[in-house]
Amino acid sequence: MFSQKFSEIKEGYTFDDVLLKPIKSPIEPREADVSTKLSRHIRLGVPIVSSPMDTVTEDQMAIAMARYGAVGVIHRNMSTNEQIEMVKKVKKEETLIIRNVISVDPETPVNVARTIMITKNIAGLPVVSGGKLVGILTKRDLEFSDSSGKIRDIMTKNVITADENVSIEDAKYILYKNRIEKLPLVDKAGKLKGLITAKDIKTREKYPNASRDTNGQLMVGAAIGAYDIDRAINLEKAGADFVVIDTAHAHNCNVISSLKKIRKELSIDIIAGNIATAEAAEDLISAGVDGLRVGIGPGSICTTRIVAGVGVPQLTAISSVADVAVKHDIPVIADGGIRYSGDMVKALAAGASTVMLGSLLAGTEESPGVEMIINGRKYKSYRGMGSIGAIKAGKSDRYGKLGNNEFIAEGVEGSVPYRGHVSENLFQFVGGIKTGMGYIGAHNLDELRKNSVFIRITNNGLKESHPHDIRIVSEPPNYQNFNY
Ligand code: 5GP
Repeated sequence: MFSQKFSEIKEGYTFDDVLLKPIKSPIEPREADVSTKLSRHIRLGVPIVSSPMDTVTEDQMAIAMARYGAVGVIHRNMSTNEQIEMVKKVKKEETLIIRNVISVDPETPVNVARTIMITKNIAGLPVVSGGKLVGILTKRDLEFSDSSGKIRDIMTKNVITADENVSIEDAKYILYKNRIEKLPLVDKAGKLKGLITAKDIKTREKYPNASRDTNGQLMVGAAIGAYDIDRAINLEKAGADFVVIDTAHAHNCNVISSLKKIRKELSIDIIAGNIATAEAAEDLISAGVDGLRVGIGPGSICTTRIVAGVGVPQLTAISSVADVAVKHDIPVIADGGIRYSGDMVKALAAGASTVMLGSLLAGTEESPGVEMIINGRKYKSYRGMGSIGAIKAGKSDRYGKLGNNEFIAEGVEGSVPYRGHVSENLFQFVGGIKTGMGYIGAHNLDELRKNSVFIRITNNGLKESHPHDIRIVSEPPNYQNFNY
């Protein structure tokens, strides 16, 4: 016996099934604020996340995403140590206050100090005696000095310092006023506690909207398997701002009991997925998640719906999960199937707080995919994490493991057109989202959700939506037509 009557079968919608109705608008697109929440405790300036896939997000992608105000999730198709190193690279990329300062004793021979400065690429070396800062050795001090002497005789003794709790603005003022490059931070007893450099302040100013933690370092997330408690603990220690429990079906009893265990061990935010139903959202929220990742089968490289016959059209999935999540103030990530900025607007309007991208970022300079030339055009490799290649290459158990060496693939391998740098693409995506918000009269993403009215369209409506009756000779950067 069926438990469901066929007359009760529901319809599900995805991006191409609907459009958003334009509404009388009090705003211009440029005024729209796209800032959002990624998870319970993490805010982002830009509602875009790069997917934890081995052809999408490693350290370079995560750095580029965070610098633009978005964020990346480092994939887990590698050893824990390799993943930890990548997280550390992102965290160290823009350290504002260097805490483990390399210093030397005043009795150090000049030639030894010179070697340290050259090999470690340090322009100003603090000199410390009994923990207290007693001088700084600069390149200028070294220039005409006798290599056989001690640094106590040549170091700069009147060091300009600041309190260990100095504000960035004050540190900047002290650096510029005194025309110095390095500012050692000391405590009340004169002990060296850190170092701020003018170079790091300049880098920070270059990316004023970057996603940063409370120490001013770039934010980064990392994927873990459902049962990877050790990996999760080590990633938190390495500085990851959040972890993503990365499974094909998070609404699984074993995954939920593991999630509860991981919750007890970590203090950073835990995002879990993937899910596609309200019931899954209820269960994961009860188990303590801080964010939900939604999408069963919409991905461009994904074959789950074809292999397993299971899935929920993505907009219906987003809205079903968001209806529950919003009551608990838990943000939703719309993951998979996004091909244009218009899809992002629809996903955000349906209740997502951020969108996760795979194929739209796989072709960028910063992705780890392999570059190739096909018919004179540049492409980069892109593959599903459930493709045979990805399963064989790594430790991934997200998809397809039925036995030790038996795989049931749930994804394909291919290539996507090269699309330049992440920042150029994010500029276009954010521009598209703001344009959408302008049509809907939404000052921010909350208003986008509240104001949006979807209209169901027909195949003819879809045909009309894309450029038609023209042989396109020039594609703008925000429109490439694959599927039409
Ligand atoms: P895209 O942005 O390319 O449409 O989708 C990316 C998303 O597809 C990922 O974030 C992930 O959720 C999902 N995904 C990645 N690899 C696979 C796979 O091999 N099979 C399935 N079913 N989904 C995948």
